[in-house]
Amino acid sequence: MIDAPGLLDVSRLLAVRESGVAGNLGAGNVDVGNVDASIARLAALLKEKRRVTVLTGAGVSAASGVPTFRGSGGLWRSFDPMTLATPQAFAKDPKLVWEWYDWRRQLIAAAQPNPAHHVIAEWSRTRPDFTLITQNVDGLHERAGTERVLRLHGSIWEVRCTGTCRSGPHVDERAPLPPDDLPPRCAGCGALLRPGVVWFGESLDPAIVAAASRATEQCEVFITIGTSAAVYPAAGFIHEARANGATVAEINPDATEASGVVDISIRGKAEEVLPRLG
Ligand SMILES: [Zn+2]
Repeated sequence: MIDAPGLLDVSRLLAVRESGVAGNLGAGNVDVGNVDASIARLAALLKEKRRVTVLTGAGVSAASGVPTFRGSGGLWRSFDPMTLATPQAFAKDPKLVWEWYDWRRQLIAAAQPNPAHHVIAEWSRTRPDFTLITQNVDGLHERAGTERVLRLHGSIWEVRCTGTCRSGPHVDERAPLPPDDLPPRCAGCGALLRPGVVWFGESLDPAIVAAASRATEQCEVFITIGTSAAVYPAAGFIHEARANGATVAEINPDATEASGVVDISIRGKAEEVLPRLG
């Protein structure tokens, strides 16, 4: 899938991620009982190796109170998010979709980066060969000061023109949006603006996927954090990293489908494990 990034079906990725499908899949030969030893092993590896690439998912933002699509805080006016985060929903009722995004933007604006975001930000500042790939659209990595972030699913803080001028993405951090600016319109051509995120059924940006793929191929240590990593492109990145000789680690509260193939599997919450890695 990675060599055909334009064809990636993000709906599957989002569906699996947001539904929290993790279960007790594929624990394989990983010693799940010895979390301390696994953390020590990864910490030692991070001291020794220079080129590190990290992939993060919703689990990293959970402690900041950012609601997931499927979590108890994820519902809005009883709508199923799967029916709102789609091009079809936007075409049918852009105001409704924008009201939902406006609500989410306000929640995220009130949230703060947690210790996991801060540790990753520190790595990005102190390690010249560090790359962060994230599936999160909330911007908390950036607010923590993380540099060189590759956002697979875009940003909830950006907007794009849907009209002929195709301008964007532009940053628009107003939260809430003024009621008379819902849905917002392009200053250039007057067409509707849309959130700068990847919706269910849309493809990922091939340039971002290519950059993420490069960072994955070139790293010595690849770490997935707070994501089930069960489907593409996340699963593809794990495969690529391993194929290129990297040591692959996973930090997640539950076992995932990747647990059986990674070198180090740490069962824990991102905000508790990462500060222990230094
Ligand atoms: Zn425009």
